[in-house]
Amino acid sequence: MTESAKDLVTKLYETRDLIDEEFRTLLETDEYDEELFKKADQVRREHYGDKVYLRGLIEFTNYCRNNCSYCGIRKSNQNLERYRLSKEQILNCCREGYELGYRTFVLQGGEDIYYKDKILCDIISDIHKEFPDCAITLSVGERSRESYQALFDAGARRYLLRHEAADDNLYRRLHPGTMSLENRKKCLFDLKEIGYQVGAGFMVGAPYQTTENLIADLRFLQELSPDMIGIGPYIKHKDTPMKWFKNGSMELTLRLVAILRLMFPYALLPSTTALGTIDPKGRELGLQAGANVVMPNLSPVDVRDKYALYENKICTGEESAQCRNCLEMRVLAAGYEVVTDRGDVKR
Ligand code: SAH
Repeated sequence: MTESAKDLVTKLYETRDLIDEEFRTLLETDEYDEELFKKADQVRREHYGDKVYLRGLIEFTNYCRNNCSYCGIRKSNQNLERYRLSKEQILNCCREGYELGYRTFVLQGGEDIYYKDKILCDIISDIHKEFPDCAITLSVGERSRESYQALFDAGARRYLLRHEAADDNLYRRLHPGTMSLENRKKCLFDLKEIGYQVGAGFMVGAPYQTTENLIADLRFLQELSPDMIGIGPYIKHKDTPMKWFKNGSMELTLRLVAILRLMFPYALLPSTTALGTIDPKGRELGLQAGANVVMPNLSPVDVRDKYALYENKICTGEESAQCRNCLEMRVLAAGYEVVTDRGDVKR
């Protein structure tokens, strides 16, 4: 390893920041990886020990009003059987998850207009009543500030909304004209002001994405200072207009996980399903690069393959208990330990 590699990583570790040119250097070669991953692991252990938090993921609807060019559940995909879980089905997922030790439930879905505030609040407050010791996380896209407030008042405390791309041009290339980066950002700041623990993030290797775009993502995250940051490789889906683009790489995703750990030592960083999908060892390597969260699937098995954001998504065939055990074994094999507490972020 060159001395300069050590210096650059040390600077990032000490100042939690670099100038653009230095970020570019880190992102564009593998020369710094060894030092970067070593330091990222050191920092995660300083802040979180060997703990890895479990979040039970419930994909409760694949209806979506949006038409994002990369996403398999986009509105105009006619090749997809749509589903929507009832409140009782969602509660049953939570019951199963609770038995398996989960204390965080993540309700994720497309932007399904069926779930008006009243319906979603009713679901949230029933989960909250039955599992008062659990954290409820939502990931249901862009809504009004009033709506976010109502969902918060019903008991939701965390919200995952990836900003997707902090560069306006890239954002517009990936999304329909009905969506805007401006509104995406507004949603994130609204959520924060209301008092949610907020998660942002982006895809790595998205179509047209450049190193400059990734640096813009890092700068936006500095501005937002989120509690959670979810990143994963872009993976193509055959029923989207972006099916011609190649998948993002595991190497670059891991490098970014490590950089994020050094920039945001306190953050909750998931080792994502997309990372596990592009490489069988992806999630383990993600943990070793600084990630400290895994999100096993808690959705009913018969709907899992319908929540097809991208091709060959893993964990669609297993029961929730199998999924949990499989992930626990993987976490252990990577050298860490699964914990079942709520794992609120510690700044
Ligand atoms: N409707 C919600 C949830 C979106 S799905 C919302 O708008 O936030 C969750 C995440 O999956 C998205 O934020 C996106 O970053 C990711 N995703 C979608 N399509 C993908 C693809 N083809 N490859 C990799 N990740 C994808």
